[in-house]
Amino acid sequence: MGKILVTGAGGFIGGHLVRDLVNRGFEVRAVDVKNVGSWYQFNEESENIVADLRSLEQCKTVSKNVDQVFNLAADMGGMGFIESNKAACMKSVLINTHLLEQAVENGVRRFFFSSSACVYAHDKQTDPRNLGLKESDAYPAMPEDGYGWEKLFSERMCRHFLEDFGLETRVARYHNVYGPHGTWDGGREKAPAAICRKIALAKITGNKNIEIWGDGEQSRSFTYIEDCIKGTIEIMSGNHAEPVNLGSSEMVTINELVGLVEEIAGIKVERNYNKKAPQGVRGRNSDNSEFVSRYGWQPKISLRQGLEKTYSWIYDEISRNSSAREK
Ligand code: NAD
Repeated sequence: MGKILVTGAGGFIGGHLVRDLVNRGFEVRAVDVKNVGSWYQFNEESENIVADLRSLEQCKTVSKNVDQVFNLAADMGGMGFIESNKAACMKSVLINTHLLEQAVENGVRRFFFSSSACVYAHDKQTDPRNLGLKESDAYPAMPEDGYGWEKLFSERMCRHFLEDFGLETRVARYHNVYGPHGTWDGGREKAPAAICRKIALAKITGNKNIEIWGDGEQSRSFTYIEDCIKGTIEIMSGNHAEPVNLGSSEMVTINELVGLVEEIAGIKVERNYNKKAPQGVRGRNSDNSEFVSRYGWQPKISLRQGLEKTYSWIYDEISRNSSAREK
């Protein structure tokens, strides 16, 4: 087995994936646009490179002598980021286009693309009791503006690079992945990390007033990082080329998510609903029948178990940062 390229390796999922692949004994080249000092996880055992993969030249260099590519690089974040940075999100199409082109040029055998539940059509997500989005619900297309269109377009590029050039492409549609070593502040964080941060801060400062975006009755399912990494590797190793959901089917409302974190933190907060804040679609859940039929399991780490680890990591990060500021 040859070298594996992981792009977006300085980010949340990429960092966990590099660690997992290195632990399994693979030779890994890890690439991100951020300076190595700000990578969420840094593995000394991998070859670590800083490169902006919107550039064709950089894609050419980093995909040399690799057997497989896991493409996780994207300019992205939670609803607060993607609703106000649509052009930036769409520019990630340069990363995918140039990497696919150079993967073919350099004789890469297999290519994984990290797509998203944001590709699903808006009119299939208007009910908070969403029974689960099937892969076919992406069409007729009306995805999340900006970010979702880029993901859907890049999914189709993967399909056509397989048909036209024989590159073995694999595509996962991730549903809201969370866990330690992810973004938890700064504007790109997603709901689980944002709620954990707000409740941890309430606990530390005693100010129990927290803002919740929308009326809190919008629903989602959240996938713990370990399930995401396991599923990613299985999708990449398997023989199914069409996009497949990779997500938990344990759906909760944002209010229920807040309730769970309150229980874990041992504190009750006062909820201030900001109805003008970005909220995304009304209801989203993952239908896992396709994934189960192909891989024989589905994400199984419960939201409570995953949140316990995530809350405790974010609590420690906040405490560490504030004690560093005090020094
Ligand atoms: P992340 O933001 O933590 O990681 C993405 C990384 O890509 C960042 O470290 C960033 O610096 C890097 N990057 C951005 N532009 C780059 C460029 N031009 N060249 C090189 N690197 C660049 O995000 P994540 O949560 O780890 O997500 C990884 C992938 O999974 C992304 O493609 C994302 O769209 C997709 N995804 C994530 C989720 C989720 O819930 N986290 C859900 C659906 C899809």
